[in-house]
Amino acid sequence: MTDYTGNYTRIRQQIENASRDSGRPAGSVHLLAVSKGQPVEAIEAVAALGQRAFGENYVQEGVAKQQALARLDLEWHFIGRLQSNKAALVAAHFDVCQSVDRLRLVEALGRARRSDQPPLQICIQLNVDAEAGKGGARPDELPALAAAVAASPTLSLAGLMAIPRPDSDQSRHAFARLADQYTDLRRDHPQVNILSIGMSDDYPQAIAAGSTLVRIGTALFGARPAPTAG
Ligand SMILES: *Cc1c(COP(=O)(O)O)cnc(C)c1O
Repeated sequence: MTDYTGNYTRIRQQIENASRDSGRPAGSVHLLAVSKGQPVEAIEAVAALGQRAFGENYVQEGVAKQQALARLDLEWHFIGRLQSNKAALVAAHFDVCQSVDRLRLVEALGRARRSDQPPLQICIQLNVDAEAGKGGARPDELPALAAAVAASPTLSLAGLMAIPRPDSDQSRHAFARLADQYTDLRRDHPQVNILSIGMSDDYPQAIAAGSTLVRIGTALFGARPAPTAG
């Protein structure tokens, strides 16, 4: 059985240590529990420890879990590849969408988010390694995407997300570039406050580079079963 309490306590401690070591105030780095592929009971167990923000990669799987856990006051982030035809479901059900990488998606999410909901928080996903076939916008596309999100009445520009290749030297450079891009973005959009970088294998390095939100799955929940489609 997975030791959720032990994992959660250790991760929170490492987040605090890494932020202190890099001279950042306590509580400035947040944890997103990545629950893709994990059952509802696992989310409940981690929520009972005080965790509120959960990340899902597959739209239907995420919506089903939200419905099963509606009695809990949780915050849901969509972090997977998003097809335009599923944007309406994400806009209806999630609090944050971190994987926005093209104008069509900005338009589809903006149209679908109801005006009686709080604005959908948006992170632009950047493809920093210029890896073909991987999600994320090119850095030169960022200003136009950010402006489109900021101009939408039903969306709110919250920050940047990236998944650098998990190769220590390269990812350190990628984290540093992302931190620069984040600083530039905040100059034009001062409300931006999420730099979503760092996963189970590299979150201390991401925090050292300036991450404000680490997305952790395996280190918290243990290995996940093979992904379901959706
Ligand atoms: C699965 C996933 C994570 C979590 O990865 P772990 O290595 O299990 O911590 C974080 N971010 C994204 C976008 C993911 O798809």
